[in-house]
Formats: sequence, C-alpha cells, structure tokens
Amino acid sequence: MRGRRALCTAAKRFDVVVVGGGHAGCEAAAAACRVGARTLLITQRLDTIGVMSCNPSIGGVGKGTLVREVDALGGLMGRVADEAGIQFRVLNRSKGEAVWGPRCQADRVLYQRAMRAFVTRELGPRFDLLEASVGDLELEPATSLGGPPRLSGVRLADGRLVSAASVVITTGTFLRGRLLLGDSATDGGRLGERPSGAIARTFERLGVQLARLKTGTPPRLDGRTIDWSRLAPQHGDSPPEPFSFLNASVRNADSQLSCHMAFTTDETHRIVRDAQHLAPPYEGAEPRYCPSIDSKVRRFPDKQRHQVWLEPEGYAAHTSVVYPNGISTALPLAVQTALVRSIGGLERCELVQPGYAVEYDFVLPTQLEHTLHLRSARGIFLAGQINGTTGYEEAAAQGVLAGANAALWSAGRSPFVLGREEALVGVLVDDLVTKGVTEPYRMFTSRAESRLSVRADNADLRLTERALAAGVLDAAGDAARVAAVRARARALREAEAALRAISCSPDHWATYGLAVSRNGVPRTGWDVLSSVGTAAGGAAALLTRMREAGFALPELSPPIERQLAIVARYDPYIRRQHVHSADLLARGNRLPLPVDLDYGSLHGELSNEERERLAKARPSTIGAAACLEGVTATGLAVLLRHAKRAE
Ligand code: FAD
Repeated sequence: MRGRRALCTAAKRFDVVVVGGGHAGCEAAAAACRVGARTLLITQRLDTIGVMSCNPSIGGVGKGTLVREVDALGGLMGRVADEAGIQFRVLNRSKGEAVWGPRCQADRVLYQRAMRAFVTRELGPRFDLLEASVGDLELEPATSLGGPPRLSGVRLADGRLVSAASVVITTGTFLRGRLLLGDSATDGGRLGERPSGAIARTFERLGVQLARLKTGTPPRLDGRTIDWSRLAPQHGDSPPEPFSFLNASVRNADSQLSCHMAFTTDETHRIVRDAQHLAPPYEGAEPRYCPSIDSKVRRFPDKQRHQVWLEPEGYAAHTSVVYPNGISTALPLAVQTALVRSIGGLERCELVQPGYAVEYDFVLPTQLEHTLHLRSARGIFLAGQINGTTGYEEAAAQGVLAGANAALWSAGRSPFVLGREEALVGVLVDDLVTKGVTEPYRMFTSRAESRLSVRADNADLRLTERALAAGVLDAAGDAARVAAVRARARALREAEAALRAISCSPDHWATYGLAVSRNGVPRTGWDVLSSVGTAAGGAAALLTRMREAGFALPELSPPIERQLAIVARYDPYIRRQHVHSADLLARGNRLPLPVDLDYGSLHGELSNEERERLAKARPSTIGAAACLEGVTATGLAVLLRHAKRAE
C-alpha cells in the first residue's frame, strides 16, 4: 500500500483532514466521505492502519451495541469484524436482550487487512491517504469582531502545509506517550512507534486543558508452549451472529476457534506482591474496568484467583501468539515470565512480547461540544482515546460522529447530534462533554437511561433513517443499507398491527396452553406475544399456532420473527421506562438525597465506582448526583428510590 496513495497534497484544499489511522480515524475518514467531503487521512505509518493495539477482540456488553450503532450509521467496524472474526459469541445471553453483548475474537492480520481494504478501496474518489506525521495546526487569528480562531490547515512534521477547512484529531495514546516497562521509560505512542508531542504543544498554545491517563497491555504468549489439555475450552456460538446489519453470516463461520480459561494461583499473587516495588511509577489514572494484575492483587487481597482468558490472536497460518486477557502488567520481564508460568497450563510458556504500560496526554472532553467540535477553536474536532476513552469501539463510535460533523460543518450544514435516549453513542458523548473524565471511560449499558430501547438488535431501526435524513448516510452509496432497514421496519410494523388487531378472550388464548389471566378481559395477539417473551421458541410457536388457527398474520423470516418477539417483550417495560424518566425529569432532579445516606452500605445496589464517587462528593440532590462522573442511569434509579423513601 505504501506509495499507492502517498500523494503530494500540498496543492489541494480538503474539507476534512483526519489525523491518525486508528479505530477513530478510519471511521472519521469514512464518515466524512459518506457526507461528501473531500477528505484526507494522514497517519504516521500506513502499515499500522487498523492495528489492534491491545486485545484481539471487538464488542462485548455495551461495546457490542456501539459496534452495531457504528454499522447502522454506515461505519466500517462491524463489517471488518465480520470479515476477520474467528470466534463469535453473544455475551449475557442468559439475561434480557437489552444487555446482550455481541462480541468476536478477531484474527489480527485479517482485521488489519480488511480495514485497510475498506479504507483504500471503498472510500471513493473524494478520499486521499498520506503517510506523514502532523506536527502542528495552522489557525487564522480571531477576527476583529472576536470569536475563536479558525483552522486553516495542518502542518506536517517535514514542514509541508495541507490546507483544510476542518481537522479531526484521533491520535490515541500518542500525545506525549511514554512507554513503561520495569525500570525503563521511553517516549512512544505504542510499542515501536514514535509519540506525538507537537500536537500537545499546539493544544497548550490554544489554551486547551490536557491531563494524563495510563493504560497497559499483557505479555503475549507463544501458543505452542501452552498445555491446552489442562485448560477448559470455550466455544463460540453456532451459527455465529454477524455484527453488520448488511451481513447474513460471517466470513469464517465454518472455521471458528476456541478460547480457553485459566486462573491465577496463590503463587501468581505472591510473585506480584513481592514485585510491587518494581512496578514503574506512572502519572495518570489507569482504566478501572481493565486494571493491571498488579492492581487486582492489591485491590482485592482476599480474592483467591483471577480468571485469565487465553485468546488466540489468529489462525495458525498467521500466528501462534496468544493474548492472556486479564494479566496486563508493566512489571519487569523476568517477573512477567515467572507470573505467567505460575498459572496452571502455562508452566512452560514462552513470552513473545512483554506487557507494558503507556501514559499519555488527553484533552479534557468538557471542552468539546456534542458534535466533538472543540469550543475554543473552530474547525477542530477530536475523537477516540484523545478524549479520555478506552477501547476500539468507543473510539470508532466517536470517529463516526466527529468525521460526519466535521464534514457537515465544513459544508455549512446542520450538525448531527444523537441524544442519550436514541443511542449509546449519544450517552457516551454526553457523558464525556458534560461530566468529563478523570479515568479512562468505558461504555456499559447501565450508563444509558433508555437501555431497554437502546439495544444491539435494533441499532439500525433507531439510527439509519436519522443518519440518512441528516446527510450522514449517502442515499446512493448506502442504498442497500437503507432499503434493508426499511423492509425490516415495514415487516415489523405490519406484523405488530396485525397482532394488535386480533382480540380474543382469555379462554381462547388458554386453548393455546397459555396462562393468560382469566379475568374475562380480552387480550390482543400483541399482549399475548409480549407475555410469552423470547424464550426457547415460545414466540415462534405462538405465531405458528395463531396462523394454523386461521388468523391473518404476515409470513416473517426467522430473524424478523425473533426481532418481533424482542420488540413485543420490551414494549410494556419501555412504556413504564418513559413514565419513570418523565417522573425523574419532572421532580426527581430536585429531590434531596438523605444527608445521612450511607453509600458504602449499598453493596449490590450501586457499583464500587458509584459508592466511591457518591461518598466523596455527597451530592445534595438527584440532579447533582446525575452530574457526577461514573454515576450511571441504573445508579440514579437506586438513588431515586432512597430519596423517595426519605421524603
Ligand atoms: P489509536 O488506535 O491509538 O490510533 C492512533 C493513530 O494516530 C495511530 O495510527 C497513530 O499512528 C496515529 N498518529 C498519532 N500521532 C500522529 C501524528 N502526529 N500524525 C499522524 N498520525 C498520528 N483498550 C481497551 O479497551 N482495553 C485495554 O486494556 C487497552 N489497553 C491498551 C494498552 C496499550 C499499550 C495501548 C497502546 C492501547 C490500549 N487500549 C486498550 C486502547 C485501544 O488500543 C484504544 O482505545 C484504541 O486503539 C483507540 O483508538 P484511537 O483511534 O483513538 O487511537
């Protein structure tokens, strides 16, 4: 790919320049192109486009919903994962669909290859790609009428100027990145890659506030030196469920690999405890929900063992490397080797790359608008880890929004903002820009007030038409996606209408073997479907029996039938959720919280993070609690109950 697109771009003016070819940058460039902007993606190394810096997996609880939303908005991540996935599993299947988390293990090589193919082949004639490092941003000073300065271009490290109306900066962990391993600390954005200091200095010149965070990655293992016979396998779903709404199946459906489960031992914990003094000191907060093994041993001294998932990094044809999920560390290499070998099945294991930590600058995201546009300088948008988030999916979701908005802004068109009630992406951005970040932000479904309606299964139904109306999807280029979602929406609407038109007595429904309340009140087919739920073919069996009984119901494909059952099941709960939200808005925000409320005692009701933050801040009202970083929608519902009880 090198040289294919390495153009001299100095003579052109771009609507949008995207800096960084990671997960946020690729999506931002693609989104800007879909809006119709002349777009340039500049990244330090073309061969690292689509690199997964840490775990070789996409999705999970909350994160999987983000991937589906990215896909519904036309983004790349879901389609790339469907090409590269080697094990697909929907997490939380035993719970309700609202918290299902589609996830896949990816082959790193295939993932990168697929992302590069999308970026180089599919972004169209308005797209250019350049291998270079961006050193500075060029700004036109504020006019005599005042107002913030405005971007006019980006200055490359070699001195060339690229003229642009807007820029989306997605430099991940590269801003003044420092790599830490044992007693060594070197400048770097990621292992083997240079950091980016100049952009950090530009931000400081603009008065943008920066702070520091830290994240880490585990050592990588040689799978040929692991005793697999001693480890419990975990298989994927069969058949695998694709991420993308455009796909009926995934590329590697017939060659799925297994992960394996291992556990740390007393010996592991002893090794880590004895080596605590050798852990490198760091400045920023680390991810609470992806802590190092050192932190886990320190924070949970009573825990006998921690789970370690051994995840293949790809097919044997590409790699024998295994990713040990759960033992991220930057302890010295000798300690890492000993701690890995203290785990059952890994006694003879060889390390192929040490774990390490990276600390880096990020921009306090409260300085951004909901479009991810920096307030203090026009034309500068930020997305991804630079905004204090962690994770590929969080980065990709911001990339779509920032890229689309940069393109819309450059064209003088209305911005595209998603509300908290519409999308998990909306929750993510709103949390960032209103609450801010003091530790890496990760998405959870519990952060969303509307988690019953903001689900992974319906992301296209929620977002695709919205995106089309805002010009974020291209009517011609995305015609297949739009046609598919319209057909699905129509089928669901018609089936719901047909079921609502059927009204029968409880005695009639009882002939179906259904325990409908015998109070004589007639029930519609929709009511009955809602009560059957989605369990084990219950809905499908009901619909079949209704058809056999002669009721006029449209024929539905199995996926639509499954979706119909989900919609019916959540319908009454979502209605209640609306009433609850309206109640919270109307008076809950002003409700005082009991002054003597012992947050520490609310185990099982609030998360550790919520108990910690609430106990420290002691907010006086529900509204004040809602503004605190880390306090989720689920947590607020708990607080509302306590506040009402004390009224
Ligand atoms: P990246 O994917 O980092 O992409 C940044 C891009 O910007 C790169 O392509 C880089 O070359 C380019 N770039 C930087 N500076 C310039 C410049 N001046 N000019 C041009 N291009 C530039 N996530 C988790 O969810 N859990 C974890 O445990 C976890 N651990 C991690 C551990 C490590 C060591 C690292 C490095 C990352 C870890 N991540 C983890 C984070 C995950 O990799 C990121 O969240 C995700 O990649 C962020 O995407 P991004 O697009 O914001 O940035």
